[in-house]
Amino acid sequence: MAARRKLEMKMTSELPLSAATARCRNCGGQELDWITRHMAMSVPEDYPLSGDMAVTVCRDCHFVGNHSPSGHDAYADYYTRFNKHQTRTDALHDLDHAYFTGVLDMVEREAGIGWAQTDVLDWGSGALLFSGLASQRGARSAHNYDLTKAYPDLDYGLIASTHCIEHVLDFNAEFRRIHGVLGKDGLFVIAVPDLRGYADVYWGPYAAFDLEHINHFEITSLSDALIRAGFEIVATRESDRLVTPTLAYPEVVILARKTEQAPAPATLSSSRPEPEAVLARYLERAEMDMGTMTATVLDTLRDYESRGVAVSAGIYGVASYAFRLIHILATEHDFHCAWIADSDARLTDKRLDQVPIRDFEGFRAWTAECAAKGVRCLVFVAAVNAVRIDAFLKERFGDSIDICVLPPDCQNRSAAG
Ligand SMILES: [Zn+2]
Repeated sequence: MAARRKLEMKMTSELPLSAATARCRNCGGQELDWITRHMAMSVPEDYPLSGDMAVTVCRDCHFVGNHSPSGHDAYADYYTRFNKHQTRTDALHDLDHAYFTGVLDMVEREAGIGWAQTDVLDWGSGALLFSGLASQRGARSAHNYDLTKAYPDLDYGLIASTHCIEHVLDFNAEFRRIHGVLGKDGLFVIAVPDLRGYADVYWGPYAAFDLEHINHFEITSLSDALIRAGFEIVATRESDRLVTPTLAYPEVVILARKTEQAPAPATLSSSRPEPEAVLARYLERAEMDMGTMTATVLDTLRDYESRGVAVSAGIYGVASYAFRLIHILATEHDFHCAWIADSDARLTDKRLDQVPIRDFEGFRAWTAECAAKGVRCLVFVAAVNAVRIDAFLKERFGDSIDICVLPPDCQNRSAAG
C-alpha cells in the first residue's frame, strides 16, 4: 500500500469530474481508491469518449477499473464509428486459428459437449473464426454477435466471448444477458486480459490504461462477476494469447456453466502475482515511461534549436498514448504541435488541442510546404503500433522527414526493457 500511496502522490492532479458519482462496476461499491486520480487526455473534438479518465481500485472487491464521464451511449457510438478493426491475415490469422482451436479444446476437455445438439454464439470477438471452427466440429448452428449484428433467438449451448468484455462498461448486464440467452446448463467461455500479468508484457506509458480497455479483470474478480450472474465455474486457465508471433498478452480464461441454483463459491488458484503487487509495479513503470516520453520530446526540440535547425514538429498517429502526451505537453510545458496527422479518415479535420488532424495526403502536403520553406518536418510517433507507423512513414518519405519514435514501442520491447 505504501508504494501505491507514493504513486498516487506523484501522479496527483484533481479528481475527474465524474468522481463524485462513480461506483465500482463489479460490485457497485462506492468506496473507490483513485490510484492515479487523473489521467487526463486531450481528445479530438466531437470524439465520443471523454479524455477525463482515472483508474480506481474498489475497496470492497478490489476490482480495477477506468472511470470517465463517458456512458453507455458514448461507448456504443465510439465502437460504431471509431473502432479500429484490424484485418488479421496470414501469420496473424494462423495464430488466431490456433488460439480459438485451443479454446474449443478446453471446452471439450473440461465440460464435454454434444456438438450435434449445440447452438453456438460468439459474443463480440469480432473475428468469425470461433463460429467457423465450432461448425467444423459439428455444431448444430454457429452465429456471431457484435454491436451492429443481431443473432437468432435460440437456446444456445455454448457462448464464447474472447477479449471483448474488458471494453464493456456494464459488463454485469452483459453477463446477465448471456445467462438469459443460454439454454439449460449452457456453457459460457470467456477470455479477458489478465491484470496479474500486465507487468510482464506492457511497457508503454499507457498500455492497458487507455480509453478502450476499461475493465482490468483477474481470476478472482472475473469469477465473482460470473457467479453473481448465475454461473458456476467449471474450469479456469491463466495463459498467454499470442497476438503476433513475438508478442503474447496475458489472459485469464474461464469456462462457466449456467445454473438455476445459487452457484457454489469457486475454489481458485492462481500462478500469477497478487493484483496489488503487480499494479504498483505497473503504475510506477507507466509513470516513468510517460516522463521519458515527454522529456524526449522536449530534449529533441531543444537539440534542433541548439543546432539552429527550424522544425515543424507534430505527431503522426493519435490514440490514447498521443492523447495523453498532447495533454501533458500542452498543460505542463505549453508546447503545441504545429500539425497532427492520422491515416484514419474518420479523424480528418477534427481539432485536437486546437490543431486540425490531417489525413495522409494532408500530411504529405504539409511536408511539401515545410520543404518549400526550408523547415524540417519532425514527426513524433507515440502509439501502441509505433513501429508500424515508423516503417510506413520511412517507406514513403525516406530521409526527407525526421521521425522520432516515442517511447520504445511497448509491443516490441522485451521484458528486460
Ligand atoms: Zn467492487
